[in-house]
Amino acid sequence: MIRTGLILLLGFLFAACGQKVLKPPTPPGISYPEYQGEEPTTPEATEVYEPVPPVVAPRGQNGAPSDALVLFDGSGFEEWIMTRDSSEVIWHLNKDGGMTVRDTAGDIQTKRNFGDLQLHLEWRSPADIQGEGQGRANSGVFLNNLYEVQILDNNDNKTYVNGQVASVYKQHIPLAMASVPSGEWNTYDIIYRAPDFDADGNKVKSGTITVIHNGVLVQDHVEIKGTTPYIGWPKNPPHGKGPIRLQDHGDNSRVSYRNIWIREL
Ligand code: MG
Repeated sequence: MIRTGLILLLGFLFAACGQKVLKPPTPPGISYPEYQGEEPTTPEATEVYEPVPPVVAPRGQNGAPSDALVLFDGSGFEEWIMTRDSSEVIWHLNKDGGMTVRDTAGDIQTKRNFGDLQLHLEWRSPADIQGEGQGRANSGVFLNNLYEVQILDNNDNKTYVNGQVASVYKQHIPLAMASVPSGEWNTYDIIYRAPDFDADGNKVKSGTITVIHNGVLVQDHVEIKGTTPYIGWPKNPPHGKGPIRLQDHGDNSRVSYRNIWIREL
């Protein structure tokens, strides 16, 4: 009798506990002011006709969108300067519509400054492989002149994963390694949102980076924690708009670029 009672009691407690666990938590709730009040009862009541988005021809300028600024189409370096002294670019201009890093010449950067942007570029590491780790076809795209999205030949080439191809250097490991074979052209499509700083120079909102590498999402709106130094912590100097910079890693990287365009956001 006592045993039966005990079993019943345990069963009751178990069921009670089970119910408690199964009961869903109260959702915090998100309310949208535009969806308050009496719910519409016709389809027309929720149709919006303005503002009308601008028409953009996706391949309006030799493959670039019609509203993009073409930064490099193979014809010359009009939009670029050497970073170290703002002189004319001395990287190699190739007959195939690309350009190649001139070893130890230094980085190049755009003449213009940009903030929020959508950037498309294509890059290629040499088919004849040289070097190991970070020393194999290392270059990089610096957004706002400060934040590097890594370029590296990572095909059968191990390195630290927060410095591998398509990493936000030493901050964000890419979600995938999506490179094509060495010697073929890769695409990067990058969406960058700049950080905000207050009047005292304090960062009040982090910037973000999204990267699609050969059609594969590899950086998903990640938070920029600061600059991307080789040694040391990220720093957060206040800044406004800045150039896009392409890296000469200084160790015979022989990385090439082509078809670079930008849409300011
Ligand atoms: Mg690099």
